[in-house]
Amino acid sequence: MPELPEVEVSRQGIAPFLTGATIKQVIVREPRMRWPVPDSIQEACAQVIERVERRAKYILLRTQVGSIILHLGMSGNLRVLPVGSEVQKHDHIDIVLNSGQLLRLHDPRRFGACLWVKGEPELHPLLAKLGPEPLTTDFSDETLFERSRGRKTAVKQFIMDNANVVGVGNIYANESLFRSGIHPKRAAGNISKARYQILTEHIKTVLAEAITQGGTTLKDFTKADGKPGYFVQQLAVYGRAGLPCTHCGNTLQEIRLGQRSTVFCAQCQR
Ligand SMILES: [Zn+2]
Repeated sequence: MPELPEVEVSRQGIAPFLTGATIKQVIVREPRMRWPVPDSIQEACAQVIERVERRAKYILLRTQVGSIILHLGMSGNLRVLPVGSEVQKHDHIDIVLNSGQLLRLHDPRRFGACLWVKGEPELHPLLAKLGPEPLTTDFSDETLFERSRGRKTAVKQFIMDNANVVGVGNIYANESLFRSGIHPKRAAGNISKARYQILTEHIKTVLAEAITQGGTTLKDFTKADGKPGYFVQQLAVYGRAGLPCTHCGNTLQEIRLGQRSTVFCAQCQR
């Protein structure tokens, strides 16, 4: 499933081709996505894409009158192709540009989305309640600490809750807690401010590293066969249950938290 780093790398990959281009046509071959693609998407035609932004895992193509909101769901990817490129199975939507290129959304499982919102996209119900972006100054140890007071939720679930901070998927939650030496099951309200400072830094670093690595491994968004894949980081705990801890050699344990695989070192994480 594309996580925040993959979505950010996709945004960076497509932005140079889209920014400043005029939308000529929106071709919807399959409107049955996670939410139906609205007929109003056609209002995007003749509009100039002013900016390509990301909020959580949504990509926003902003025009003067409104924005196209794209989401990659479980299996979606975006490519920039010449107009007239052969249509493959699961190529559900084309956003045709006046530059002779198009942006194509390919999504076998159709959990992705393509929506149109007039005015400020941040006010759309999908975006309005999202917490701070992890890689901005809006996300700090203070915001996390304040929100956590009185919370008995396990810290791992707390940092994976989009209301507290967006984009900390399961892999990144596992890795940042390991690096911070915090036990994933510890109650969020029972963690000091000093430890939240460490955790905040590690969340930012883990995500930033994944984006940097993704930028080097999946940079080609303009090949028909070059499906942007999903990159594998050097992971210290995720997927390593039963193997020795990279720090102390103790065997890593696995538990389920909120149905998600949670791997940690009982010696290094308290
Ligand atoms: Zn250890």
